[in-house]
Amino acid sequence: MKNQTNPFKNAIDQLEKAGKIAELDQNFLDRMKTPDRYIEVSIPVTMDNGSQHIFQGFRSQHNNSCGPYKGGIRFHHDVNLDEVRALSFWMTFKCAVVNVPFGGGKGGVIVDPKILSEKEIENISRGYIKKMYPVLGPEMDVPAPDVNTGEKIMGYMLDEYEKITGKKAPATFTGKAIANGGSEGRMEATGFGGGVVVREIINTGLISVGATVAIQGFGNVATYFAESVIKQGLKVVALSDSKGGVYNENGIDLALALAHKKNTGTLSGLAGTKNITNAELLLLSVDILVPSALENVLTSENAEQISAKIIVEMANGPTTPESDEIFAKNGVIVIPDILANSGGVATSYFEWYQNMNSEKWQREDVLKKLDDLMVSAWNNIVVIKEKYKTTLRNAAYILASERIEEADKIKH
Ligand code: NAD
Repeated sequence: MKNQTNPFKNAIDQLEKAGKIAELDQNFLDRMKTPDRYIEVSIPVTMDNGSQHIFQGFRSQHNNSCGPYKGGIRFHHDVNLDEVRALSFWMTFKCAVVNVPFGGGKGGVIVDPKILSEKEIENISRGYIKKMYPVLGPEMDVPAPDVNTGEKIMGYMLDEYEKITGKKAPATFTGKAIANGGSEGRMEATGFGGGVVVREIINTGLISVGATVAIQGFGNVATYFAESVIKQGLKVVALSDSKGGVYNENGIDLALALAHKKNTGTLSGLAGTKNITNAELLLLSVDILVPSALENVLTSENAEQISAKIIVEMANGPTTPESDEIFAKNGVIVIPDILANSGGVATSYFEWYQNMNSEKWQREDVLKKLDDLMVSAWNNIVVIKEKYKTTLRNAAYILASERIEEADKIKH
């Protein structure tokens, strides 16, 4: 089996496939294969016991033809340069799919925040900015939260950035708390945006109300996605976190699941459900499967056994190119990550815009604007899918490539 798990190779493979179909310019494709730059830093942190630990941090700035680099910062023990480069690549294409004036960036720190104190996490966050601040800024590179980072960490980072630069610059980070210049609606935006795409699929008649949904993950994205599809009358029968999953064929009560996770730190043992593993969750007989945690969970090793009709990629890069081909052969419809989870960056753009223009929008306005952007992206992709008789992923890459290439041309 060829190595399926290098996400950067997988990302390039996805673009090359689309490039062949639409006969995209080879020079453009080649330029997209290397980030503009990536930065690796060491972050010395004094731990609570007085010892010093050096953490490793990354930032990859993939392409800024359409606007400032934009993308989250991940805290995870598996973070590595190839992952960060892939995630920055996907951000370039995602921003272009949803048509917001940003390029692609991504960052990460190799750390397991679950074993650290709040003070140690704050010190890592501030340490990351001490090293990275020269390459960040509202018109240069705008980070946001990702796995294991959220509004609190964005708050530490913004505070450190403003202390060092001596300027008020809230638009340097998105995904902030409302009190620190965050946007109404940003918290739920990614899950909500995925829900809009599901609504459009229901409108095509491919699935109907009552359809069953299995979601891998139970973090920010998964929670609001679940809330959105439950509101639309779909049945979430499985959820999971890093420790395992739970299943109830009649549907899981989201409020109970949230309370159980809060009280016990895990989903396991949720009343009225059966414990399952993450691997079992992926193989459940459901209408919609929603990987919403990490990349590379759908591979050639499990793709043939997936019985879902539709896969909504709320995580970035959950499907390897090999499994993508198996899904296409088997008629499984894959809603690609660069569309499905683009609601997050679309709303980050709204947050950035409000900060840059000293505005504050109501939640309803934000979600309405987001809904419009998602529907427009979906419609554009469907037109391209029909034109080239191809998958939604290839169509999304073609749409994004045409937009990026147009903006990129002037530089070359
Ligand atoms: P999060 O940290 O809030 O949640 C991550 C979830 O994944 C948690 O429930 C965690 O327990 C679970 N998880 C971790 N390791 C796992 C494993 N090995 N198996 C199963 N579950 C595991 O992160 P999030 O913000 O919800 O992000 C989830 C995914 O969505 C990531 O791929 C991220 O890049 C992508 N994404 C997030 C946003 C956003 O706005 N937060 C936007 C676009 C894409």
